[in-house]
Amino acid sequence: MRVDLITLFPEYFHAPLRIGPLRKAQEAGSLQVFLHDPAHYADHPKAVDDVPYGGGAGMVMRPEPVVRILRKLPPGGTVIYLSPQGIPLCQKRVEALARKEHLVILSGRYLGLDARVVEAFVDLEVSIGDYILSGGEPAALVLLDAVARLLPGAVGDEASRERDSFTATVGGILAGPVYTRPPVFEGMAVPEVLRGGNHAAIRRFLRKEALRKTLHRRLDLLRKIPLSEADRALIREIAEEEGWSF
Ligand code: SAM
Repeated sequence: MRVDLITLFPEYFHAPLRIGPLRKAQEAGSLQVFLHDPAHYADHPKAVDDVPYGGGAGMVMRPEPVVRILRKLPPGGTVIYLSPQGIPLCQKRVEALARKEHLVILSGRYLGLDARVVEAFVDLEVSIGDYILSGGEPAALVLLDAVARLLPGAVGDEASRERDSFTATVGGILAGPVYTRPPVFEGMAVPEVLRGGNHAAIRRFLRKEALRKTLHRRLDLLRKIPLSEADRALIREIAEEEGWSF
């Protein structure tokens, strides 16, 4: 995958691109990242922003430098603008983006990017949550990391991704708790079933705890998925254990 990142702060990405899945995906040849600074395409160094039409406080990113970059890129990339006004990012969207060959990611600053660029050049506006960042760079990094870890060679054990929350293999719910050694830590023991070799019992336990966590924290996720009869039985068990009715 080719990723072109358009940002007024390219240095923001230097360290993260050398760490973990982002580094590994590049080393494996499944990811190439190019950084582009609109300041280098402005008519003069300070012409990257200007006052907003209509008045009021703040500045707006001017269209020309960004569009000059967009026009020199190879055609066909999916252009994404990180914005709190975008559609919320979710794992399904990340998986769809990971199947693309070329992404162009635009980070805004100030009040945002001139709306005409968004209108004419952007395919997808993406938000990483209902809060305001000072710039699109952290959001671009979130998107890039989530996409990159799905690319070949990005994670050591690719099967481990199938245990992640929101994935189809986990049925779109939260993944539930995990444990490692020691078996007892500060008086807290790892659940007995996980220490035995009964794989059916282990699978049942993990599913039940995943359902329990999702019931407690993200009922919205459970409402979106078709529950199997086995899941329903586990939910009834949880309800009985916890003394609630539905
Ligand atoms: N005035 C804008 C608004 O209310 O929609 C917010 C501008 S924000 C200070 C500057 C830039 O940060 C935005 O253009 C966008 O690129 C990025 N940004 C801020 N919050 C974001 C979020 N939740 N998701 C994605 N990008 C965000």
